[in-house]
Amino acid sequence: MPMALLAADEPPPFTAHNLAGASPCLLLCEHASNRLPRRLGDLGLPPAELRRHIAWDIGALSLAEALSRRLDAALFATGYSRLVIDCNRPLSVPSSIPERSEDTVIPGNLGLDPAARAMREATLFHPFQAAVAGHIEARRPGCIIGVHSFTPVYRGVARPWQAGVLFGAAEGFGRALLGALAAPGLCLGENEPYRIEIEEDYTVPVHGDARGLPALLIEVRQDLLADAAGIAHWAGRLEPAIRQAIAACDGPAG
Ligand SMILES: [Zn+2]
Repeated sequence: MPMALLAADEPPPFTAHNLAGASPCLLLCEHASNRLPRRLGDLGLPPAELRRHIAWDIGALSLAEALSRRLDAALFATGYSRLVIDCNRPLSVPSSIPERSEDTVIPGNLGLDPAARAMREATLFHPFQAAVAGHIEARRPGCIIGVHSFTPVYRGVARPWQAGVLFGAAEGFGRALLGALAAPGLCLGENEPYRIEIEEDYTVPVHGDARGLPALLIEVRQDLLADAAGIAHWAGRLEPAIRQAIAACDGPAG
C-alpha cells in the first residue's frame, strides 16, 4: 500500500466553519495556509520563501473567519499551501502544482511523476472541492465569495489598489459590491490585480458561473491585513458591503 501524504497527526486537508450559518453567502479561502505535509519536507525552499505570498495569501484566513462570524456565513478553508496543490486552479494547468512561482523555482515540484501528482490531488484537491460542491448542492447558497490577499509589490511594481473584486459572469454582483465598497481615498480594482480566466481559475468558473451561481473573489492588499486591527477594519468594511450587494442582486431586476 502506498504511503499517505498526510500522517494521522497532521491537520485535515481543509476546515469547515459555521456550516449552518444563516447567510445566503458561501465563503471560501483557497489560499489560507502555508503549511506543507511533513512528508514533503520544505519542498526545497528556505523558510523565508515559505513565509512569502507565493506560499499563501497572508491575512486572508483571518479575514475570511471574521467575515464568516459577522455575516453568519459558512466558510471552507484549505489546510495546506498552494505550493503543494492550488485549490483555485484546474488540475490541467501548470500552476496547479507550480514548478516556479514568480521568480522562485520550487525544487520539490520539479518533474513530479503521475503517482506523486495523483496523491496530492486525491489528498488535498478533491476532498476540498467535493466538500464545497456537496455544500452547494445541499444548502443552495445564493452566492460564493472567495477571500484572497495580494502582495503590495509584484515583480518590482507597486500596486495602487487597496482591494479588488474579481468576477466572470457575475457582473451585476461584482459591480454592486464595488459600488457598496466605494469610499473617498479608496482605490478599488475591478478585475484587478487579477482577472478571472476560465482556463486558469477554479472557484468562480466551476463552483459559480457553471452553476449560474453569482461568484466573485475579493482581494485585499496584504499589508492592510498585517495585524488584528487591519483584519477588523477590513471585515468591518466588507461585511455591510457584501450584505448590500446581496440585497441589490435579490431585487426585482434579479
Ligand atoms: Zn489567493
